[in-house]
Amino acid sequence: MKIKNVTVFGSGVLGAQIAFHTAYHGYNVTLFDISDELLKNAKLKFEQFKPMYQQDINAALLDLEAAVSRISLTTDLAESVKDADLTIEAIPENIQIKKDFYTKLGIVAPAKTIFCTNSSTLLPSQFAAETGRPERFLALHFANYLWKNNVAEIMSHSGTDPEVFEKVVQFAKTIGMLTIPIYKEQPGYVMNSLLVPWLIAGLDLYRNGIADASSIDKTWMKTVGADLGPMAMADLVGMTTAYNVSKSYAELTGEEIWKERRDFLKENFIDQNKLGISTGEGFYTY
Ligand code: NAD
Repeated sequence: MKIKNVTVFGSGVLGAQIAFHTAYHGYNVTLFDISDELLKNAKLKFEQFKPMYQQDINAALLDLEAAVSRISLTTDLAESVKDADLTIEAIPENIQIKKDFYTKLGIVAPAKTIFCTNSSTLLPSQFAAETGRPERFLALHFANYLWKNNVAEIMSHSGTDPEVFEKVVQFAKTIGMLTIPIYKEQPGYVMNSLLVPWLIAGLDLYRNGIADASSIDKTWMKTVGADLGPMAMADLVGMTTAYNVSKSYAELTGEEIWKERRDFLKENFIDQNKLGISTGEGFYTY
């Protein structure tokens, strides 16, 4: 089976990018979210991506317009997958939301459909049973700004069919990704096994009053020669994801320190709608 039709679930930070990028590479894409308002917002995001693609990867305007024309938007789950060869899920990083979602999806999707999750910190095996097709389920994980940070980590769980794994690796190559096959389930893949401890180190320095956000970032950027420090990176990733990650670790480990991090992010950022770049304020104001 050749992959032609791709469905993306969730039109948030990553979902909108995945949908646009997949369409840019010629696939028919359906983007699903839970409200029309969110889908309307996704259309605005596509317009914002166009100049970024032109600037970052020298994309032609005609190709970008063609990409938008290949994307359909829907809030109807069954409709969204009725002819899907492959799906990529980018809904909130919350185990119960994912389990509930896959329970519904498994019922309405055709038998041929491959399910991929873009989850950053959860393991496919944590919700493989809910999909009803564990052998056709695995992780396909993208980085933020995926058209230029074009690394895709592909990770199977112990029940994934190796042929399906290989098919997803090949698919990721066709959308211009540098593919990283991951041989064993690893929380956070390769990238987040490096990134999360770095972000948390920045958060702890900040929350314990050791240094302010800009000093933390400057230290890192100047000494390592990097473009971004951990605080600016947290604003880019988004506080919702940072909060959900802390919450998952708090539940997983039961450790007091993760509960403190989770509560700090909730009180100081989530409850105040300081969600990072997306709302104009996080550690920095934009
Ligand atoms: P987000 O909060 O920006 O977007 C989530 C989207 O899912 C929203 O549009 C929301 O309306 C939608 N949604 C909520 N409940 C839903 C449901 N029941 N069914 C379908 N859609 C629903 O989140 P995000 O940052 O794009 O992250 C999404 C996933 O991608 C997470 O698993 C995250 O770990 C992963 N991820 C995020 C990043 C990042 O930098 N933000 C990077 C790589 C992977």
